[in-house]
Amino acid sequence: MGGIISKRILVTGGAGFLGSHLCERLVAEGNEVLCVDNYFTGRRANVAHLMDASNFELMRHDVTFPLYVEVDEIYNLACPASPVHYQFDPVQTTKTSVHGAINMLGLAKRTRAKMFQASTSEVYGDPSQHPQTEEYWGNVNPIGPRSCYDEGKRCAETLCFDYLRQHKLRIKVVRIFNTYGPRMHPNDGRVVSNFIVQALRGEPITLYGEGSQTRSFCYVDDLIEGFVRLMATPDDVTGPINIGNPGEFTIRELAEKVLELTGSASELVHRPLPENDPTQRQPDITRARSVLGWEPTVALEEGLKKTIAYFDDLLAGRVAAEA
Ligand code: NAD
Ligand code: UDP
Ligand code: UDP
Repeated sequence: MGGIISKRILVTGGAGFLGSHLCERLVAEGNEVLCVDNYFTGRRANVAHLMDASNFELMRHDVTFPLYVEVDEIYNLACPASPVHYQFDPVQTTKTSVHGAINMLGLAKRTRAKMFQASTSEVYGDPSQHPQTEEYWGNVNPIGPRSCYDEGKRCAETLCFDYLRQHKLRIKVVRIFNTYGPRMHPNDGRVVSNFIVQALRGEPITLYGEGSQTRSFCYVDDLIEGFVRLMATPDDVTGPINIGNPGEFTIRELAEKVLELTGSASELVHRPLPENDPTQRQPDITRARSVLGWEPTVALEEGLKKTIAYFDDLLAGRVAAEA
């Protein structure tokens, strides 16, 4: 390919929601993309449209086992992200975060690849500082039902920084705040997909608690742009760096917005608030703005419309649910 040096890039969790969008972007840029996934929450259907590309390869593999491949960059996204899924087998969730990070860091050490770790705003737990800057150390319960995810991700961050200090690896750690968009799993259990699917089916919209807790929702395309910019930064930029949309909404406001945009007549019903559910969450993206020149461009209403269109097609059978 005249003059273009293509990189070999491994994306773990590449058949999931975020991973599939990342693979799409990296393939379009002409890179050799190896997508690795054990299909726990991901689906081949999410990357089916990439299968014909000569620079895309899909491999079934569980990152808790070693992986020997030759690559220049690693995006480590493998991990169930929704509470229902990560609490289904909490021991496997911790293994995926911790053993998965060790294996990917070991791979990065051997190949001298750059390692990108998908961390999460959950490392801040139920935060006592608002909004959350990267300096905040968090307020995390080490023994609760969310701990397998929160502490697993915290340990993965620790491992990244220890491989940096001990083995001089190049690392990029991103703390992702709630992100939504097409290819979220319809049974994912996260709030945006739940509300849209419930609205489109005319089923009750399930508000956990009073719906007064807040979240900030980032559209997937904005997030992926932030990923790619972070990976391209000089080696002294390691993160952690918050990527998210600072627009903060109550869960009730989100429900009302979904009802308005779908024109659904679904009623709002209350369900018990899950244990350790954070009451407030909003990213401080000062660092992303200054270091990456990044900020979100897609407003909630615009992103919701695209996501609603996707679920509308999915529920009507116009896009494949399973490969
Ligand atoms: P997802 O569940 O759609 O994707 C995760 C992918 O990892 C799936 O394809 C799953 O099959 C795969 N996977 C799980 N365990 C694995 C294992 N042991 N080996 C190989 N593959 C495995 O979730 P997502 O929203 O795309 O999340 C991707 C990453 O981003 C996760 O690491 C998650 O923690 C992080 N994240 C996401 C959000 C968000 O709002 N979507 C927020 C914070 C962090
Ligand atoms: N590893 C891997 N692929 C590689 C190199 C290493 O999956 O190409 C795994 C291997 O299982 C190892 C882990 O990464 O246990 C950590 O590697 P490291 O070199 O840091 O440690 P060690 O091999 O000494 O345990
Ligand atoms: N939530 C809700 N109804 C649902 C699913 C989630 O009210 O059907 C709430 C949940 O209690 C939380 C917020 O929406 O306060 C975001 O939940 P999600 O699981 O999407 O993400 P996280 O809790 O990890 O931020």
